[in-house]
Amino acid sequence: MTHTVYLDNAATTAMSDAAVKAMTPCFQGIYGNPSSLHGIGQRAREELERAREAVAACIGASAREIYFTSGGSEADNQAIRSAARLGAAKGKKHIISTNFEHHAVLHTLKRLESEGFEVTYLPVDPDGLITPAQVEEAIRPDTALVTVMYANNEVGTILPVREIGAVCRAAKVIFHTDAVQAVGHIPVDVEADNVDMLSLSAHKFRGPKGAGALYCRKNVALATFIEGGAQERGKRAGTENLAGACGTAAALSEAVAHIYENMAGEKLLRDRLIAGLSKIPHSKLNGDAEKRLPGNVNMCFEGIEGESLLLLLDAKGICASSGSACTSGSLDPSHVLLALGLPHEVAHGSLRLSLGPDNTAEEIDYVIAEVTKTVEYLRSISPVWEELETGKRRHLI
Ligand SMILES: *Cc1c(COP(=O)(O)O)cnc(C)c1O
Repeated sequence: MTHTVYLDNAATTAMSDAAVKAMTPCFQGIYGNPSSLHGIGQRAREELERAREAVAACIGASAREIYFTSGGSEADNQAIRSAARLGAAKGKKHIISTNFEHHAVLHTLKRLESEGFEVTYLPVDPDGLITPAQVEEAIRPDTALVTVMYANNEVGTILPVREIGAVCRAAKVIFHTDAVQAVGHIPVDVEADNVDMLSLSAHKFRGPKGAGALYCRKNVALATFIEGGAQERGKRAGTENLAGACGTAAALSEAVAHIYENMAGEKLLRDRLIAGLSKIPHSKLNGDAEKRLPGNVNMCFEGIEGESLLLLLDAKGICASSGSACTSGSLDPSHVLLALGLPHEVAHGSLRLSLGPDNTAEEIDYVIAEVTKTVEYLRSISPVWEELETGKRRHLI
């Protein structure tokens, strides 16, 4: 393979031509301030509102329910903090979530716990799923918010959001979903899915980094995120990131227009990759095989370190990700893989490959061959593998 094989689309994506094309005029031609009354400003305002309408249409919302943000993390923070504040005003200080959310959600919840909120973290099952019944049982009279991700960023499982939304609606509890991995990849509709608040991020669907949106249903009173001017319906002050909004809208519109063909194409490659890598002895697919994002593969290989595998694959031009992202130098395995109940030593040997619409079957076959060779090599020099093979240590997978 003479070129780089990029299989880290869950981390970020290359921008689409449509997104670049939509953004470019914003830097020089449509440079006005959308708050200015003159023609150049009003031209920018029109583009901004057009982008808002396009994003809304892609998720079944109305334009006035879309607040542009700096991305998924900001949307998650603001949604959760807003709902917490609304709850607290009524003496409700209980929140329900899961134990495998993105850190933008988990760290916000930890902060709220230190401010006197109580959080129930529903445990996901070994396949990386929770049931609507778990949510129903956890709801209390003082529950202010349920926040459950639409699809997990590491193991790719798709959660029963629609049914969880119905449970929340019946109990009159606000329901937020971090849909950053879902929007633009699988069909999402805030009405059908019974969602009150939803976070999305442009760079996960071939839009620009540092741009995204929070959907907030009109009857939910959103708190002000940034004080200042009247931008974003007075909730988020500051001159708007017009290029970011236009790039978000263009990338999302294109992704949604091709969603079924992209899903079908990615699913074929995903299943080819899973079948190929599953032939490696003592390997395991993480996350449910069916209720799974079309582009996600996450596997564990016993007896190796995910980081070593990543580095060797990088040298062969394969860009992947390890589940055990060694954040701040610590070698803690991923909280997601631990939530699925994997033992530490197995969770350390994980690899996430996330596909995009441009990947080819030829690339997938190259990756299967190279991962297989590299895992064999790493095992051949691994003292742990030797212990496993000589029976000094018990195989866990
Ligand atoms: C990437 C991601 C985020 C954060 O989005 P940013 O735009 O990078 O801030 C939040 N949640 C999930 C599930 C993600 O995959």
